Amino acid sequence: MKTIVLASNNKNKIKEFREIFSDYNILSLNDIGFNDEIEETGKTFLENALIKAKTIHLFLKDKNLDYDVVSDDSGLCVEALNGAPGVYSARYAGIHGNDNENIKKLLKELEGNVNRKAYFICFIVLYKSNGIYYDVEGKTYGTITNEKIGDNSFGYDPVFLSDDLGKTFGEASSEEKNKVSHRGRAIDELKLLLDNEKI
Ligand code: IMP
Repeated sequence: MKTIVLASNNKNKIKEFREIFSDYNILSLNDIGFNDEIEETGKTFLENALIKAKTIHLFLKDKNLDYDVVSDDSGLCVEALNGAPGVYSARYAGIHGNDNENIKKLLKELEGNVNRKAYFICFIVLYKSNGIYYDVEGKTYGTITNEKIGDNSFGYDPVFLSDDLGKTFGEASSEEKNKVSHRGRAIDELKLLLDNEKI
C-alpha cells in the first residue's frame, strides 16, 4: 500500500482523506513526528500550499523517508472586498482561527453593500518524493448573508449561502457540503490525478 503524508494535523481533514483515499496509507504530521508550526507567508493559496508541502518533503528527505506529500490551502474571497479575506481568511480579525470574530469583521466590512458575491477556493498540492509537484484547484460560489444561519460548521460556513445548495454551509450536512465544496471539488481532481497511472 502506497504511503502519502497529509501536511496537516486537522482531525476532520485526516478523517476525510482516509475515507476517500482508502487505497493509500495516509499519515498525519503527528504520525511522522513533525511538531513545528509552518508559517504561511505566501501571497497566494498555491504559494502557501507549496510552502507546507515543500517543508514536509524536505523533513522526510532528511529522514530518508521516500513518501509523497499532499497539502492544501483554502479561503474565502469576496468580490466587493477585492478578494479579501483571501489568504488571510483564518486570521482576518487578527487571531488565527477565531471564527466568530472573523465573521463579525466580514459582516461589518460588507454592511450596506448590495454586492455580496463570494467564493471559497481550495488548492491542493501533490508533492512527489522525487521533487516534482502537481496542483489542483476547487471552487464553490455563493453570497454572504446578513447574519449567521445554521451552526453545523466551521469558519465562514454560517454566512456562506451556497449557490448549489440554496442554503448556507452552516445549515448543510457534511455530506451535502462535501459534494459541492471547494475542498470536495479539489479532492475529486486529486483523485483523478492519483488514479492516473503515470503519476
Ligand atoms: P485552511 O486552508 O484549512 O487553513 O483554511 C483557511 C481558512 O479559510 C479557515 O480557517 C476558514 O476561516 C476559511 N475556510 C476554508 N474552508 C472553509 C470552509 O469550508 N468553510 C468555512 N470556512 C472555510
